[in-house]
Amino acid sequence: MDTMRVRFWGTRGSIPAALTAHMLRDKLVHALVSAAGHNLDTPEKAGAFADTLPFPISHTFGGNSPCVELLADGAPRVLLDMGSGGRPAGLEALRQLAGKPGEFHIFMSHLHWDHIMGFPFFTPAYIPGHSIRIYGCHAELEHAFRRQQAPPSFPVDFSKLGARIEFVQLEPGRHYEIAGYRVMAKLQAHGGDSYGYRFERGGKTVIYSTDSEHKLDDIAQTDGFIDFFHAADLVIFDAMYSLADAISVKEDWGHSSNVVGVELCQLAQARHLVLFHHEPAYDDATIERVWRETQRLEEITRGEHPVQVTAAYDGLEIAL
Ligand SMILES: [Zn+2]
Ligand SMILES: [Zn+2]
Repeated sequence: MDTMRVRFWGTRGSIPAALTAHMLRDKLVHALVSAAGHNLDTPEKAGAFADTLPFPISHTFGGNSPCVELLADGAPRVLLDMGSGGRPAGLEALRQLAGKPGEFHIFMSHLHWDHIMGFPFFTPAYIPGHSIRIYGCHAELEHAFRRQQAPPSFPVDFSKLGARIEFVQLEPGRHYEIAGYRVMAKLQAHGGDSYGYRFERGGKTVIYSTDSEHKLDDIAQTDGFIDFFHAADLVIFDAMYSLADAISVKEDWGHSSNVVGVELCQLAQARHLVLFHHEPAYDDATIERVWRETQRLEEITRGEHPVQVTAAYDGLEIAL
């Protein structure tokens, strides 16, 4: 059976946010205190103990800006957005290709910096023999990629890139067959517009819906997204804000909350909600808290269709 996998290379919104030395030290202190009295004299015992610690102590959600990969047997590489997570994604692809030419299909939600900034560091773009197709619905798609590498912003001009790079304009609402997937884009509410994507392959459906502000009191807009998310196996969702922020100070900032994500997935009978585009000001403990609260909210509002809730982190891989 053809399985599809989704790998998260960058899950932070708006700007990359690195873990600081102090944050790392705090995790270590917490872990060492928890370890007191345990016999951890081998890597195996220490590893097993680490797995019992809360996620924000033993891990980090990570700091790269949006880049997600769809993987399926026999299909070329598909990347969703080219945030700073595009840098490690490119390096891993080259490692796997081991010198062979690669075929990359990149779907762009929109052209804000946090979603394009990884491209100048996407190594396959520099190497002749690779082919890269960049899809999007914005008329300025190609211009945005060329401009970020034009002087005085970057030392290597776009025209110097060695790979074969093409730009493909998509029309929202139309079905396309691309790279072994059935693909449809949908217009979303965001400053300068953004587009969500629905990918279908082998009976599985993945929705990539980031940088989208939902107002559930707008019935027509909500119905459109319930259709778009319908029965999806995975919904990657912009849950940048807590509900309190989303409906007060940050209303009209172009992002959504975990609460809206749960409600839309329940209405659409989607199976798995992935919280994505984390607020850069949130530390690991805060993201974990939002995740737990979202799980609780889903449990107490659950109807006939349970929705699994996950908070995305850099390095997370989900098999469908
Ligand atoms: Zn963004
Ligand atoms: Zn944006």
